[in-house]
Amino acid sequence: MNLHEYQSKKLLKSYQIDIPNGQIISSQIPDSIKLHLKKNTAFVFKSQIHAGGRGKSGGVELINNLKDAEDFISNQLGSKLKTYQNLPHGQPVNKILVEEKIAIERELYFSILIDRQTESIIILCSTEGGTEIEDTAKKNENLIFKEYISVGEFPTEQQINNLSKKLKISIETYLEFKNFLQNAFKLFLEKDLSLMEVNPLIISKNNKIVALDCKISLDDNALFKHETLRDSFDWSQVDEKEAEAHRAGLNYIALEGTIGCMVNGAGLAMATMDLIKHSGGLPANFLDVGGGASAETVSKAFKILLSDKNVRVVLVNIFGGIMRCDLIADGIVSAIKDVGIKIPIVVRLEGTNVEIGKKILDQSKLNITSADSLSDAAKQAVLFSKA
Ligand code: GDP
Ligand code: MN
Repeated sequence: MNLHEYQSKKLLKSYQIDIPNGQIISSQIPDSIKLHLKKNTAFVFKSQIHAGGRGKSGGVELINNLKDAEDFISNQLGSKLKTYQNLPHGQPVNKILVEEKIAIERELYFSILIDRQTESIIILCSTEGGTEIEDTAKKNENLIFKEYISVGEFPTEQQINNLSKKLKISIETYLEFKNFLQNAFKLFLEKDLSLMEVNPLIISKNNKIVALDCKISLDDNALFKHETLRDSFDWSQVDEKEAEAHRAGLNYIALEGTIGCMVNGAGLAMATMDLIKHSGGLPANFLDVGGGASAETVSKAFKILLSDKNVRVVLVNIFGGIMRCDLIADGIVSAIKDVGIKIPIVVRLEGTNVEIGKKILDQSKLNITSADSLSDAAKQAVLFSKA
């Protein structure tokens, strides 16, 4: 689960990490800021979306007068900001963070992440802050410095010292750097993060270490421990269909293809998508309706699938293990009638009472093609998708 920059910074602050003074706005510029702008005080205006690369796409601007501030607000608020990270759709800007402008001496890159390969936590730093770390990794890998920390341990004085030297932190700033790093690490562990990226982490003209930007991802499996954070998730940042599926208790991920998939079980859903691709088609989504899919769930799932205008055919692949196939077939038929589906539906049922189930589908007189096997179903669906 991702947090917005302003939410991430609030967490940093609660761990004694320095951030610029700021205010979050969602409609008008408050009078206090207007007053300063009239005197040409500079602020940084930052559109809040779950993606980086905003600086290069007009989502972060240095502003020192009321006219520019008002232009920025009216251009950004309510619009979709596209950056290289969230193409092709972009994400809506509903909030803007207005911060004091900090005079930067140096921009560093700092992140903490989990490395599955070494089963440890990595602290990754670079002298090349402010730019995309992927670029630095490609161009000049030896400007990226890493320290590995085993699970249950903390960065040692030696490790902190190593990073500090490589980042060319001055002796006067060392203690502050050490405090920053230890607090960031503590936050990473205590809030069960999977990623914390501070880019740039800056050294200011007056030798302070300040987090100018921050991206935090929490481990979804640990969210039950952090209710307040979990509830602060901004659903406007994900695909509308995915948000609705989540509310309906469905596991849905939107994709780019034309074949809508309704499957029970994540493994079966993946196998179905593989077979569609193997047969020359492209799935429009991943959808796991779960083990005990009811007629209502199936109906809701159809609605979500069909709200994707690219979908030209729906492939239903359900294994009736816990549920009986005749009940599932009833559910499919009533869902189709309920939703009023006009595109072809290919259904592959397997499991208990499969023959009765197929009969129900055949007798429904709806635009349903009943398939005998999964590969048969995939082939049929691909044919329809190209018709
Ligand atoms: P991103 O492009 O989405 O990663 O957004 P950032 O928050 O990293 O902002 C982009 C760039 O704006 C930073 O790398 C800084 O160079 C610049 N910037 C942001 N805040 C300040 C500030 O307070 N002072 C100055 N001088 N520059 C800033
Ligand atoms: Mn950044």
